[in-house]
Amino acid sequence: MKKKIIIANWKMNPLDIDAATELFKKIKNNAPKFSNVKTIICPPFVYLGELSLMYSGSKISLGAQDSFWENNGSFTGEISPYQITDLGADYVILGHSDRRALGETNEIVNKKIKTAISAGLNVILCIGESERDDDGEYLRFIEEEIKESLKGISKNNLSKIIIAYEPIWAIGKSKNKAMKPANVYEMKLFILKVLKNIYDASVMETKILYGGSSGPENTESLIKEGEVDGLLVGHESLIASHFLEIIKIADGIK
Ligand code: PEP
Repeated sequence: MKKKIIIANWKMNPLDIDAATELFKKIKNNAPKFSNVKTIICPPFVYLGELSLMYSGSKISLGAQDSFWENNGSFTGEISPYQITDLGADYVILGHSDRRALGETNEIVNKKIKTAISAGLNVILCIGESERDDDGEYLRFIEEEIKESLKGISKNNLSKIIIAYEPIWAIGKSKNKAMKPANVYEMKLFILKVLKNIYDASVMETKILYGGSSGPENTESLIKEGEVDGLLVGHESLIASHFLEIIKIADGIK
């Protein structure tokens, strides 16, 4: 049975280190019980160092929410992927819609992916349309996002990338605003088709996740009927009991 992947994106939360360690402790002490799930926690940069000291030896992984496209140098305020690996994190989210809303382009995401991979990080690449239309323009948008973000990235390096499909219109809403599982499945097939056209059929193993208002109530249907490899979870990952419930449900899906 393939392990499901459940990722927590804490975004710019919580507001102090005590709350961050408390939340992390609850997840780290319980998530490893569910051995069919790979759990990845992505806290704000400022907590990575402290949390990585707490998690050594545990079975969950840490990730950052962004990284810069240069290794080092005069880039005030930016974080190098090498600094992230140095803290013990193995993953980085790139191209999240929150960052794209601040001006990040596919070209920037592409540069960031290349540097992150050369620093030894695995990448969680976020893609997703802001709205849907009847003419299928959103499909062309997704295709372009994938092609431009992965430009020049070898098939070998694609194996270090997890794709998180996150329709922007479904992010941060209540559970009944999540995408319908049947549509998630359609999008998963579409993304795999685009990847196959860029590379070849061997990339059909690429992990595809869904993100957007997922929670304990829709985890089962999104993963089972959407046939995705897991979920990228935003606001529900800030409540330890909800996030652990998502992991437990994912663990039970055959
Ligand atoms: C996200 O922003 O990556 C996300 C999935 O958020 P939420 O679960 O809150 O919709």
